[in-house]
Amino acid sequence: MTAGPRGVGAGVNPTAAPTVPETADVVVIGAGQAGLSAGYHLQRRGFVPAGAPPSGQHDATPTYLVLDAEDGPGGAWRHRWRSLRMSTVNGIYDLPGIEQPGVAPEAASVDVLPAYFGDYEAELGLAVVRPVRVRRVEEADGATGRPGDLLVRWASGDRSGAITARALVNATGTWSKPFWPAYPGQETVRGRQLHTADYVRAEDFAGARVAVVGGGISAVQLLEEVSHVARTFWFTRREPVWRDDFGPDEGSRAVAMVDQRVREGLPPQSVVSVTGLIRTPSLHAAAERGVLERRPMFTRIVPEGVVAADGQLLPVDVIFWNTGFRAALDHLRPLHLRAAGGGIRMDATQVAGEPRVHLVGYGPSASTVGANRAGREAVARIVRYLAAEDEPLPVPHDGTRAAARRRSRDVTAS
Ligand code: FAD
Repeated sequence: MTAGPRGVGAGVNPTAAPTVPETADVVVIGAGQAGLSAGYHLQRRGFVPAGAPPSGQHDATPTYLVLDAEDGPGGAWRHRWRSLRMSTVNGIYDLPGIEQPGVAPEAASVDVLPAYFGDYEAELGLAVVRPVRVRRVEEADGATGRPGDLLVRWASGDRSGAITARALVNATGTWSKPFWPAYPGQETVRGRQLHTADYVRAEDFAGARVAVVGGGISAVQLLEEVSHVARTFWFTRREPVWRDDFGPDEGSRAVAMVDQRVREGLPPQSVVSVTGLIRTPSLHAAAERGVLERRPMFTRIVPEGVVAADGQLLPVDVIFWNTGFRAALDHLRPLHLRAAGGGIRMDATQVAGEPRVHLVGYGPSASTVGANRAGREAVARIVRYLAAEDEPLPVPHDGTRAAARRRSRDVTAS
């Protein structure tokens, strides 16, 4: 099938239907920091865009494609609120190979980072196709692809199709999976409920009484912001851990802790959530205004507001859930990757025992620096895996070539 993937680089025309070829050696899902890092390293290793018109390369030249659900570049940065400035993000690591342009600290991350990602895709000619959402990844059978391959089913508007891949880099982030904890009475509330992912601007809360829930960085930043125009009440399950500074040792410890969790097949905690909260000058000022007086979590929601831990009714107009996100992995469900511990057992970026599937930007690599490294590591391991797969196999004595290939995979994984 012809392909010429549209969307290569930043010159994306969101009104034209994207073309997705039927096969690629490696499919990357998601074009945020993690997916672009994987794309960069695939190109460096000699992979070429799948379905691109022949350019004289040998037929065996390995191919890749990045499928991204967004209408344009930037990953989740396209959706962050305008008041999240380059000075108020935690620090964004450069994408591999091309530095971020110098920008004013006051510039909005929602402007700067999508533009940087777009220029990056264009300059490197990365094979990013969008908007294409992956719905399911399943095992190919004889009819849908070579046994042992993965079948990636996608949709784009009212079109849908499938692409087979020998290996997969999943880089779908968390933004599309906001976590809303369940509280009794939640459906009865008369006021508004929203999540961090829905936040646009503080002015939308002007004059309201707002219960802000959550103890992470976004929670305190948005609490501070909203407190300038609204009466706020801050609820967290635990006393937040405050720090005046944050050194590389704490960062490494947090990453190691999350890494250990996913190696054991437990759900990851976000790296950022285990490093504690830094007292920035604006948070110092907020503390002085009494905004950071934390209350224990409420027990119930009623039509007028929330019932506090001491049984008192606190009337509120808005409940603002800054309760984090979960890894967006529903499309991988057909592969049955979940371990008994509720997470996915990982061996660095690879799903343990499944050398075809890597998760980048997941668990210990859920930060911009982690995403960069994970992209590089996943590609290095996939290259080794594909090379081992392409070696002549011993004659299978108890089954098909696919069974022999599976055995060889098990050996690679162990
Ligand atoms: P994303 O940027 O979310 O990209 C995922 C991509 O996958 C998106 O384009 C999405 O549309 C696409 N996708 C999802 N599902 C599918 C599908 N089924 N099919 C096709 N495409 C799909 N980290 C830092 O290091 N420094 C910071 O300052 C910082 N600030 C942050 C501020 C906020 C408010 C938040 C929420 C997070 C912050 N982080 C920060 C964490 C950081 O954003 C991430 O670790 C990193 O940017 C995520 O990159 P990613 O590529 O994993 O995901």
